[in-house]
Amino acid sequence: MSFPPNSPTFVSKNEFLEYLDTYVFHFDVNPLYQRVVESAFFDNVDGKWHIKAMNVERNIVENYVVRFLVVATGENSEGFVPRIEGLNEFGGKIMHSIEYGNGKSFKKKDVLVVGCGNSGMEIAYDLANWGAQTSIVARSSDDGAIFDENGMPKKRSSCHWKGEKGIYCVGFASAGLFGISSDAKNISEDINRILMHVDNKMNEISSSSN
Ligand SMILES: Cc1cc2nc3c(=O)[nH]c(=O)nc-3n(C[C@H](O)[C@H](O)[C@H](O)COP(=O)(O)OP(=O)(O)OC[C@H]3O[C@@H](n4cnc5c(N)ncnc54)[C@H](O)[C@@H]3O)c2cc1C
Repeated sequence: MSFPPNSPTFVSKNEFLEYLDTYVFHFDVNPLYQRVVESAFFDNVDGKWHIKAMNVERNIVENYVVRFLVVATGENSEGFVPRIEGLNEFGGKIMHSIEYGNGKSFKKKDVLVVGCGNSGMEIAYDLANWGAQTSIVARSSDDGAIFDENGMPKKRSSCHWKGEKGIYCVGFASAGLFGISSDAKNISEDINRILMHVDNKMNEISSSSN
């Protein structure tokens, strides 16, 4: 679903939320919130995925049995602090981007942002706006071996979104929202194709048995 034609190139937070609300309404999506998926396994007997999810609101475990499973847990859901020599001896505050709210408490302080992905760039920009003395470091030594001249990974598989036995993943192509949208379309078309094939087979079986 496209953004309204008069939308700016970079939509505001509120416009984006509005888009999500319209999307949910348009496609009649009914997400279940406050669930943390704890496990999923494929049962060869019934040919379905069995999922255990914790309902954190009610503190109970819920079970779901489904034919298709789409994993869309994000590439950056959990914070990871790499082991850096000398980090333990550093006397200042160390913070992962996942803990960052805003730069208010960093005013006039020296801050080094490590890494210049989406989070690093936006945090550095926010810190500078709050009056911090901000520096940013970017790893560049081996980027040339991994990325092409456009800054995209050289190794791309056209079917990275599809696993076996009806499992799929969205959002792991390092291609932002565009990649996610493309994965989602590929997956819905693939599931549709499979379901149509099953329907056709069922029709063939029922017409041959009549
Ligand atoms: C600061 C920043 C700025 C960005 N700016 C842009 C931009 O301008 N343009 C752009 O295209 N992209 C941008 N991106 C990237 C974009 O936000 C991500 O690519 C996108 O949000 C990923 O969406 P996703 O649905 O794959 O994952 P997420 O948005 O990470 O969603 C994953 C969801 O899965 C949930 N989850 C994880 N594990 C479980 C579990 N076990 N059970 C249940 N739920 C679970 C998480 O709670 C989360 O809600 C930006 C990212 C950051 C961090």
